[in-house]
Amino acid sequence: MQAELIAAAQALDALGFMPSKSGNLSCRTERGCLITPAGLPYAETGPEDLVEVAPDGSVLGGHRRPSSEWRLHMAIYAARPEAGAVVHTHSPFATALSCARQPIPPFHYMIALAGGADIRCSAYATFGTAALAEATIAALEGRRAALLANHGAVAIGKSLAGAQTLAMEVENLARQYLALRAAGLPPVLLTEAELREVFAQFGDYGRLT
Ligand SMILES: [Zn+2]
Repeated sequence: MQAELIAAAQALDALGFMPSKSGNLSCRTERGCLITPAGLPYAETGPEDLVEVAPDGSVLGGHRRPSSEWRLHMAIYAARPEAGAVVHTHSPFATALSCARQPIPPFHYMIALAGGADIRCSAYATFGTAALAEATIAALEGRRAALLANHGAVAIGKSLAGAQTLAMEVENLARQYLALRAAGLPPVLLTEAELREVFAQFGDYGRLT
């Protein structure tokens, strides 16, 4: 699990999803979660730098400070029993959209991967706070991904690979949606009936991975 977390963090960092040591990843453990440390460049982070935190934030293992967003991760694990991993990024296009506090509407069928007809944007709250954790849980209701207002994005998965893939798809959708808006073209949104067919077509693919 440790090596997989580091590899995922470094891969997302290489894509420009974690500017200035931002973003954080975690996997659920029996006692809490294993999370990336605070303030360490991902390129210099190794498995020994990961921190296991309890639901109350106390450190169960590791010699670093946990990511400042440990509350957000723990709140997601508490609210979403199916989540085995959480990926939080500051990926550029999703973050840009989050600064307009706008959701991603169903302009492309791949929106279904996030679990519903849209990807919501949370209410704004200061980073690292319980208020942000609460706002994120609300935005994730019935979804596997959300934008965090004036901040970034979050994706959950049964597995770390699933959460990582979804984080990349959220960024992809945000990029496509912003390109469409930048071109001055009004998006034609999928209807409820069209979305129902997409979910049927996805079948297992649409389930939490
Ligand atoms: Zn953040």
